[in-house]
Amino acid sequence: MRKHIFLDFASTTPLDPDVKKEMDQIESHIFGNASSIHAFGSEARAIVDTSRDMLADVLDCKQSEIIFTSGATESNNLALQGISHANHQVSGCFRHNKIRLDHSGLKNHIITTSIEHPSVLRTCYALEKWGINVSYVKPNKKGIVDPKDVEKYINERTILISVMYVNNEIGTIQPIKKIGKIARKYHIPFHVDAVQAINYLDCRADFLHADLISLSSHKMYGPKGVGALFVRKGVTLSPVFYGGDQEYELRPGTSNVPAIAGFGIAAQQVQENCADITKRVQNLRDHLISQLCKSIPDIRINGSLHHRVPNNINIFINNVEGESLVVKLDMAGFAVSTGSACAAGSIEPSNVLQEIGLSKKQASSSLRITIGKYTTMKQLDHFCNAITRIVNELRSYSSVIHTVQV
Ligand code: PMP
Repeated sequence: MRKHIFLDFASTTPLDPDVKKEMDQIESHIFGNASSIHAFGSEARAIVDTSRDMLADVLDCKQSEIIFTSGATESNNLALQGISHANHQVSGCFRHNKIRLDHSGLKNHIITTSIEHPSVLRTCYALEKWGINVSYVKPNKKGIVDPKDVEKYINERTILISVMYVNNEIGTIQPIKKIGKIARKYHIPFHVDAVQAINYLDCRADFLHADLISLSSHKMYGPKGVGALFVRKGVTLSPVFYGGDQEYELRPGTSNVPAIAGFGIAAQQVQENCADITKRVQNLRDHLISQLCKSIPDIRINGSLHHRVPNNINIFINNVEGESLVVKLDMAGFAVSTGSACAAGSIEPSNVLQEIGLSKKQASSSLRITIGKYTTMKQLDHFCNAITRIVNELRSYSSVIHTVQV
């Protein structure tokens, strides 16, 4: 297992050593409840506050606009359910102190895209059962959503627009700033799932015109089980859970101080090293693409290569079953995936790939390779040799079966 080469950085990332050092230190010495008023509590609270500052720095927002959660699944739920519940209570849209009155009673419409992460899509499906109407904007064949299509769906009942910055399967970058401007024009709160963007792109809230931003620590070399939701001042959300007053009464529960501390350091590292890592990772990714194209015939990149984060490759490999390839590569010591880890176990081929025009068969002949800051050229060269060999094996095996069947 230790010798395995990890090329699945979109599913998760290993802990950065500085993050680990900070967390170990806190785990060993600080155990107070950050809500207690005595010295142990203050000590823990100071750590949470420092971390909140670090996250606020990355998003260029106020400290009080950062809500710590258990991860981006919860952040996305809080954004979507929170806005929906708040609107059922108040029937109004609060943004920059402007209240748009809803004369017809209930505001109950959300716009999102058909290629969001399951934590957005499945929340939308649940909200539909509770009486919310949801419009799902389709991307083009390159995996990009047209802001004009988003605008077309807006009506007087729209309470939220939710669009991911970067797709977790194909890595395509959505025109978030343009969509944000549209949302602002209509005074509609705008939620951005920035989980796969934060390592490489500018995620400052004002720059994106975003009112809600979801982040996950374990995608940015921080610990698992912690994330954040940026909630712009003036945007009204209802909590999803009820309990204590933590996290500005939006997310009750005792703070996970070591994890929050690790998340803060991870965010700081991302901010400091983003430009260097982007350059390095892009070079590695482009090298691997050119090697793969040279050594494996009949392959194609899924989605736009131009509007894509620098660490993502998603390829269609004709005549090869993606799951078999993942298993064979795993046996050879390489960890890659066919798509979202959150949808792994599903027998359906990727919904994202089908949404950009691939047939079910093509979608199930696709592979996601995502590299990270610890990936080396040598690892990629080993990988290229292994995948070339395995694809040849699988293709010759399937042609034998085909011949026998014929
Ligand atoms: N959104 C996106 C785009 C993701 O890639 C993920 C993780 N696969 C999530 C949300 C959920 O994040 P978490 O694992 O922190 O719940």
